[in-house]
Amino acid sequence: MGHLRAPGYGRRATENELRASGFGLRAAGACGAIVLGLLFLAPLPRAMAAQAPAAAAAAEPAPGPVWPRLSPAERDQVMTFGEDFKAFMTKAKSEMTFVHEAIGYAEAHGFKRWSPDVPKAALTPGSRWYAVNRDRTIALFVIGRDPVTSGTRIVNAHIDAVRIELKPKPFRTSFDVEMMVTQPHGGLKNYQWVNRPLALIGRIDKTDGKTIWVDIGNDPGDPVFVIPDLAPHVDKDFRDRKSHDVIGTEEMRPILAMTARDAMAALKAKYGVTESDFLSADLQLVPADPPRDVGLDRQLMGLYGDDDRLSGYANIRAIAEVTVPEKTAIAYCVNNEEVNSWDTGVQSQWFSTLVAEIINVQEGRYDELMLRHAYEHSQALESDCTTALNPLFPQPQDPVAASRLGWGLAVKEYGSGKQALSEYFAKVRRIFDDNGVLWQTHSYKAGYGGGTIAQWFANANIDVIDVGVGILSMHSPMDISSKADLWELYRGFKAFLGAPMAPAAAAAR
Ligand SMILES: [Zn+2]
Repeated sequence: MGHLRAPGYGRRATENELRASGFGLRAAGACGAIVLGLLFLAPLPRAMAAQAPAAAAAAEPAPGPVWPRLSPAERDQVMTFGEDFKAFMTKAKSEMTFVHEAIGYAEAHGFKRWSPDVPKAALTPGSRWYAVNRDRTIALFVIGRDPVTSGTRIVNAHIDAVRIELKPKPFRTSFDVEMMVTQPHGGLKNYQWVNRPLALIGRIDKTDGKTIWVDIGNDPGDPVFVIPDLAPHVDKDFRDRKSHDVIGTEEMRPILAMTARDAMAALKAKYGVTESDFLSADLQLVPADPPRDVGLDRQLMGLYGDDDRLSGYANIRAIAEVTVPEKTAIAYCVNNEEVNSWDTGVQSQWFSTLVAEIINVQEGRYDELMLRHAYEHSQALESDCTTALNPLFPQPQDPVAASRLGWGLAVKEYGSGKQALSEYFAKVRRIFDDNGVLWQTHSYKAGYGGGTIAQWFANANIDVIDVGVGILSMHSPMDISSKADLWELYRGFKAFLGAPMAPAAAAAR
């Protein structure tokens, strides 16, 4: 079904309209919506997809749940992809472990480590490369038939996630218990992080140049770390705190051990580090739980770090399927979006240096104008998770405008000069529609919403549009996402980067 035939072009259909059109999954009530997804598991008749208006370039399906439109074979693919993602995310609990896992994936799929000294003869169309910035940012790219100076296709995602970090002098004794002093990375609701098992991961860099990789708490046999909350028996004087201050940021102190001496002895025995080595450490406390399926039909996943390693994972999977694109395709997974960039973030000059190096090898020379022209002709998707309409708390969002869980890839429209130019959005729509990608739009009510790093691409004179998927419980220890959304995001990236797409699958939608 196309937008043109959907009730009310340019806006979302109402709940009643959706039910009437066969897409309705929700019982609408005066006080909100209740998801009744289990009732609608049968695929829609293919005939509905075949009724596209003759004038349209490709069928543009009306926004709606993805799952009922998938064939049994596609549902199997979606489930398998979800299993692969959960296995990856069991290990990728930080940007550093994401990069580590992504390098393994890249090398297993024919990508070679980039060097500015690569000979021109090796840079053939279809050759596959990856480059890493300081263990925390990675770019995989496939050389196109056209030179990089004629433009590239970039999908960007951030691979840091909200978490708690250790401060440089982290150890404190409080009433005979050893605690750790922390600081947040990104916007947390602190109360969500207490009374739950936390793992300590990251690196300690010693003065002799050695890096010690730390991982305590992810193995089921490991001890974990817990921020202890007050029992309801003794919290009477704290009940008037506002939700944001239920646990203050300086109160986010997990238990390290009962005795400092034994804790230090355990760290020395396992990692050979002393207390002073924690001065030069990058250590994160993250949920120790592994990813889980959510709900009886297993369409949803609950895990730490969806925002935005979900996009990062879809990105590396998508580019691995690019063979010989017209324009050089780049999957760029960047650190520190949650804290405004810094040295391995999107504002770093590292990415421009990488593109300049590729130009230098391709052209045998380099000047700044070549890079500027490459950017001027480049196009980017900036992908990040966003807030799907919450069935418990729909109030902050406009149900017509907000993304829905399970409705596919979300194109985000922020307004206020921060959204894609309409002509670029039209091109991206065409790419998605020609390849049967199921997508929706997302925008916020006035005064709500988060940031985007798309501005870096916009400032670099690159066409950019914000996309992603809508999730629930965002920035919590357990984000909730839809496997079908992850699948459509991956398919959208593939289409954009120029990977071959199965025309049969596209035609069937
Ligand atoms: Zn994000």
